[in-house]
Amino acid sequence: MKRRARYRRREALRLLLVYGAALLVGFAAGHPWAAVALASIGLLARHYVRLGRVLSDVGSRRTLVSPRRAGAWDALERLLVRRQKELRTRRRRLVELLRTYQRAASALPDAILILDRTDRIVWFNRAAARMFGLNAAQHTGARLQDAISSRHLANWLEAPVREPLVEIPSPCEQGHTLSLQPISYNEDQWLLVARDVSILMHLQQVRRDFVANVSHELRTPLTVIHGYLDMIEPEEHPELAGIIDEMRKQSHRMTHLVEDLLTLSRLEAQDTIDEEAIAMPPLLETLRREAEALSQGRHAISVTDLAGVDLKGSTKELHSAFSNLIGNAVRYTPAGGRVDVYFEREGTGAVFRVADTGHGIPAQHLARITERFYRVSTSRSRDSGGTGLGLSIVKHVLNLHQARLEVKSDIGQGCVFSCHFGGERVLAREAQPQAQARVH
Ligand code: ADP
Repeated sequence: MKRRARYRRREALRLLLVYGAALLVGFAAGHPWAAVALASIGLLARHYVRLGRVLSDVGSRRTLVSPRRAGAWDALERLLVRRQKELRTRRRRLVELLRTYQRAASALPDAILILDRTDRIVWFNRAAARMFGLNAAQHTGARLQDAISSRHLANWLEAPVREPLVEIPSPCEQGHTLSLQPISYNEDQWLLVARDVSILMHLQQVRRDFVANVSHELRTPLTVIHGYLDMIEPEEHPELAGIIDEMRKQSHRMTHLVEDLLTLSRLEAQDTIDEEAIAMPPLLETLRREAEALSQGRHAISVTDLAGVDLKGSTKELHSAFSNLIGNAVRYTPAGGRVDVYFEREGTGAVFRVADTGHGIPAQHLARITERFYRVSTSRSRDSGGTGLGLSIVKHVLNLHQARLEVKSDIGQGCVFSCHFGGERVLAREAQPQAQARVH
């Protein structure tokens, strides 16, 4: 404030001096008003010149120099110099920050590409250059599918709905697998993160092979043990009857376990399935008979077919998945309970549903029950002859059919397991009348 008052005083003094001098000279020359007019024009001209200088300073990129004098225009120029310095410092800091982020992103082991909405490459890091064989001069601005020649990548990019995580063979390194993840971060651009998951895939393969080999190797000794156990007549050794019975039970459990492990290994190794027309009425009838055989009259069982359509896929695998669900419903529902099976339409697709009135599953377990060997109650599972692999098998089979498993349950409320099939899995049924089977 003090400074501003000083400038004002100085400017007022300057005006006084200029006009005083003009009046003095004017009176001396006999034309005071002409002298005042001339002084005014001079002052105005001076202001214009300074204004022009300030405007050109504001518009130019050159470094401004602080004026030494102390007039109002000099004060304004000094202010401009200060603003320019502050702006330049801020810009330098921002550029430095940006470079730091870029260096950090460049050093990441995962490939990172910034793409615009039309899939043109805006920026990519070193790992992306290596993984996809890109170079900045040639590929910046190019469409991703043109810059990287990979049919799998192109299919993924051009799909109507992009999968949130996809694995593709590496376009540059044979035998390597890349996992791609798109991350949307603003309306105009998105990030593509790619990771080499070859080691993980290799380890998964090793695990799968190991489980499959061990299960396979266990088959023969188990068959032998079974055979010998079957040859022993408990009546001939009444003192060993209990032991023989338990040994038979355990060897059966082990056989089931080995069979389920082999089924899972086979399903995991598969990425396609038979695409046959599955006649649902006979399949539902078989499932009903199996359920009744397992229940032995202890439950009320109903199978209701309201869909009037068939499914497309593997009869063998879907039979195994559906009978696993029905088997669980029977095994986990106490005698006197109900097991209701429905097959019905759902939009353009269809749903296969198994509802029971059994023990139910506490809500906190629902997210994990399709994991291998995950059991809500280990003792109940063992007592009911479960292997802990049934729902894993169901999930794998449904995945192979692009179908989804939904579980609704709570303690003491029974369970509802629903398999949702999309419209592409539904086939018109040849025989027109809707089959309906109900057994109580
Ligand atoms: P298991 O062979 O032990 O039955 P599953 O994978 O088929 O293994 O099922 C996993 C667990 O989910 C079971 O141990 C059981 O605790 C629970 N579960 C599955 N189905 C039902 C059901 N219908 N009612 C209650 N619990 C169930």
